[in-house]
Amino acid sequence: QTVCVTGASGFIAAHAVEQLLQKGYHVIGTVRGDDSKYPYLTGLEGAEERLRLVQADLLSEGAFDDILSDCDYVLHTASPYIIDVKDPQRDLVDPAVQGTVHVLEACKKSPRVKRVILTSSIAAITDEPDNHHVFTEADWNTKSSLDRNPYYFSKTKAEQAAWKFMEDSDLTFDMVVINPFIVIGPSYGPSLNTSNQIIRDIMKGLFPTIMTVNWGFVDVRDVAKAHILAMETPEASGRYLCANQSMTMTELVQFLKDSGYRNYRLPLVNMANPLGTKVMKLLSYTQPKGVGTYMRTNMGKAMQFDNSKIKNELKIEFIPAKESILAAVEDMLKWKHLK
Ligand code: NDP
Repeated sequence: QTVCVTGASGFIAAHAVEQLLQKGYHVIGTVRGDDSKYPYLTGLEGAEERLRLVQADLLSEGAFDDILSDCDYVLHTASPYIIDVKDPQRDLVDPAVQGTVHVLEACKKSPRVKRVILTSSIAAITDEPDNHHVFTEADWNTKSSLDRNPYYFSKTKAEQAAWKFMEDSDLTFDMVVINPFIVIGPSYGPSLNTSNQIIRDIMKGLFPTIMTVNWGFVDVRDVAKAHILAMETPEASGRYLCANQSMTMTELVQFLKDSGYRNYRLPLVNMANPLGTKVMKLLSYTQPKGVGTYMRTNMGKAMQFDNSKIKNELKIEFIPAKESILAAVEDMLKWKHLK
């Protein structure tokens, strides 16, 4: 059976390609450059026999039509994941939404596609933690906009466009959505992912103090696995919030210290208290717009979520967050993102 992975060069997608090849699938990966740019994909075990890379841009209509006519399943992961952009509509929303619709249109034309797995995000569930609410798949982000957390807005709009498309009663395929939280861990490719970068930034002293924030971490290998389980489990349906454990910044910094990374520029001052949050919210206005908005909407609150649906229905057993954090750090050292 043949699986198309869009954005195969990406952090999550490369793991999906690797796991699919290990399981014996034929894989068509869509990328934006020529094959020579992706030795970490073409060098994977089984790639020579069963991986084909094809160029396709999310914005070009019809780009996926021929590709998907030969596929049984599609993992649609491609979407820009950038927090600070010049023009949020052009750089985030258009590729996210149009790309999703172009892929689904190609699935509709394909005689073979049975199921699409869409990589959405926690961003489509909320952009703001709430101390009094445990988030589930039933929640939708209604607050983001082009001005407020535009990456979150792009993911929400893309997932909504996808569900709208799926209302068409003539379709012969179904869709399952994965909504990961902060994805961390080892990377096949050399570029530094925006989510691993959170740990890098903490270790390089970019966070002046410890703040009241927490993150729901999930290992990149588990996110890839969740996509494949969603594809292989006939009963899988709807959305799956995909996160393992949350950790506060205080816990994360302490864990990095305890793990022997004391010599990095970890924040020394702990402002994870109500007064600190007020001060940091004022300071957030000195940050680039995207980072500043993120700080104001996230600081002082603890994100709570329920991951029982993915555990019960896809039977996933998550890698412990501490293991993923160490794997992410080792990987960033290997790729020289951390000196
Ligand atoms: P990456 O930045 O590593 O991957 C993004 C992929 O999208 C790349 O392959 C990129 O191609 C491709 N892409 C971006 N714009 C276009 C375009 N116009 N046309 C074609 N391809 C394009 O990020 P991740 O692996 O982290 O993200 C993958 C998916 O997971 C995204 O949908 C993201 O929103 C989602 N996600 C990620 C989370 C995380 O914490 N990392 C959390 C939740 C969701 P190229 O290599 O050419 O740039």
